[in-house]
Amino acid sequence: MKVMLGTRNNGKIVEMRRLLAPLGLELENQTDTNIPSPVEDGATFVENALIKARAVSLASGMPAIADDSGLVVPALNGRPGIYSSRFAHADATDAENNKELLNQLANQELRSAYFFCCMVMLKHSTDPTPIIAYGQWWGEILTEPNGDGGFGYDPLFYIASARSSAAELPADIKNKLSHRGQASQHLIKQLSASLSANA
Ligand code: IMP
Repeated sequence: MKVMLGTRNNGKIVEMRRLLAPLGLELENQTDTNIPSPVEDGATFVENALIKARAVSLASGMPAIADDSGLVVPALNGRPGIYSSRFAHADATDAENNKELLNQLANQELRSAYFFCCMVMLKHSTDPTPIIAYGQWWGEILTEPNGDGGFGYDPLFYIASARSSAAELPADIKNKLSHRGQASQHLIKQLSASLSANA
């Protein structure tokens, strides 16, 4: 089965291709097409994940998988949340977003936070029964960046059990622990069950 991945984020593409490999799907990248990214105007991760998957499925005529993910910081009332990729400003780089996070958390002692991922799959753009899977990964926000792997807020996200930031974790370990890793496992289980039920 050919499936379109609804993201233009290279960090996510690398992780999602590895995580979804067990499904044996032929994954195509939105970045290899001229399909534009839709306006993410949902109020929650699940709404935005469905908006992205629906847009690429409609434009490509293929089934689609997309995720919406971000960092949720309780001390900041849940920010940056669904605005994680545009925390500093609309076209912010990862470095600008990380700086904004450090500024907003300056002098803040409560630094626990979690990454959240909602990953969805639509069989077609009007699929009324999407597969919806979630993952959540707790850590602490460091006071300065550490490590150069991963993407986004990884250099500021400290995992006590691994004694390192997410940016210092080998890719296979991040994929085992992460919000996206957990959501992928749930999506794989649901899709495998639905494929065998319809076989
Ligand atoms: P989205 O592409 O609209 O879902 O935005 C996701 C944003 O959340 C990314 O641009 C990152 O800022 C952040 N994010 C999501 N997952 C991760 C991760 O695994 N590591 C670091 N940052 C992440």
